Amino acid sequence: MPALPTLLDNKNIKEFLKSFDYVLTDCDGVLWCTDTVIGQANDALNQLRALGKKIFYITNNSTKSRNEIVAKCERLSFIANKEEIVCSSYVTALYLKQQNFKRKVYIMGASGIARELEDVGIAHYGAEPEPLVGDVYDLKNTMTLEPDVGAVVVGLDPYFSFPRVMRASSYLKDPDCIFIATNTDERFPINKNDLIMPGAGACVKCVETVVQRPPVIMGKPSETMFSLISDKHQLNPSRTLMIGDRCNTDILFGKNCGLHTLVVLSGITKMEDLESWAASTDEDKHKLLADYYLPELGDFIPLLKNEKCQ
Ligand SMILES: [Mg+2]
Repeated sequence: MPALPTLLDNKNIKEFLKSFDYVLTDCDGVLWCTDTVIGQANDALNQLRALGKKIFYITNNSTKSRNEIVAKCERLSFIANKEEIVCSSYVTALYLKQQNFKRKVYIMGASGIARELEDVGIAHYGAEPEPLVGDVYDLKNTMTLEPDVGAVVVGLDPYFSFPRVMRASSYLKDPDCIFIATNTDERFPINKNDLIMPGAGACVKCVETVVQRPPVIMGKPSETMFSLISDKHQLNPSRTLMIGDRCNTDILFGKNCGLHTLVVLSGITKMEDLESWAASTDEDKHKLLADYYLPELGDFIPLLKNEKCQ
């Protein structure tokens, strides 16, 4: 049976801190839950920075642009600058730029994608509501497509509607039209026990089901995000720590890229999940087991205090 992640404590913290120079941290479920800081996550991350660790905020969230995430970090007292933000909307824009994409993008997602495409000079439309008006069967007579759309980007779509799925799918009928998913997270962490908020993966699967071909995925666990920042900042994977709350994205991403991994139990993953993966005979489940765990990021603070005293 594979080992469960090791709890970080006063005994192993020194060796742990010596093992990395770079920290890639997920945001939702690790640093904050919607608009509230999780415990003392801000102090903990700022203290890791003060110890000389280089921090990157690496999030599958495509609803916001990098500027909007910097503003959120500042509002919630996390030190951050635009260069340190790697979100799936930004990675999408860079990917299309690298492909020398010159046509127009249809966005079935939020305005964060639009802002990042604008930043690299790519034309787009679609990040706005298109509700169903009248009978669904009338859409075949009323819907018109724009002529120069060469890519469809699907993310967490706050305007999700039947006409938007039909529009995205219709563009993708052309096999040369690039199908991009910002990420495939099943659900979005919210602090409400009785409710589940669908993630971008729900919107992606919907279109994928219609068009019957898979998208190119930008977010974790795809290695696209890491290759981007690694090229830009010369990160050494063996000196890099990935912190996350969702194991099939964050921790699998860390494993795929050869990083050290730390799971916090303040978001999607619970201790019962770790125990069931360790007990499973499915080897894919074992890849979800991080090297270390903490109940939440703020639990670093007493450990770092001890570290500084030694
Ligand atoms: Mg998360």
